[in-house]
Amino acid sequence: MRICIDMDEVMVDNYQRYHEIYEEWQGQPVDPESYYGKKIYELPGIEAMRDELRKPGFFRDLPVMKDAREVVEELYGKYEVYIVTAATEFKHSFTDKWEWLEEHMPFVHWERIVFCGDKSIVHGDYMIDDKVSNLATFNGQGLLFTASHNVHETGYPRMEDWLEVRDYFRELSAGA
Ligand SMILES: [Mg+2]
Repeated sequence: MRICIDMDEVMVDNYQRYHEIYEEWQGQPVDPESYYGKKIYELPGIEAMRDELRKPGFFRDLPVMKDAREVVEELYGKYEVYIVTAATEFKHSFTDKWEWLEEHMPFVHWERIVFCGDKSIVHGDYMIDDKVSNLATFNGQGLLFTASHNVHETGYPRMEDWLEVRDYFRELSAGA
């Protein structure tokens, strides 16, 4: 069974850095509820935040999403796990993401890392992703990892955090 796992806003916690940038630029902390249903850089006055993603190093030092390391490692030991991340839009993200994986997910073999643009090229049985458009073109079962921009989506089983992902696959293997 092949499971495709996204990086940004799924394995990687991008929000802490976004919140730091918001506070640096706006002089006050952001209320996370103010950007429910959209990306933080769609808030007025900070649209330029998305340009930060183009800078070398942006993706290198982001923290690991809570419980991601433990659960991804557990899944990796049981299933054919691939890390599938859209990287081609931001050229420096290649090295940053490679080094991030080497540091935080050292058990992931390089053959299991897919840097792509359009994820519809990837096939598998499950895809864990925060972006509905990636799940919509996936041939298998999509699992929607909760992110600010997808809180109103209802079309896929929702994973609020990594412990829910762990439970989902534990129940799946128990029922098989
Ligand atoms: Mg993502």
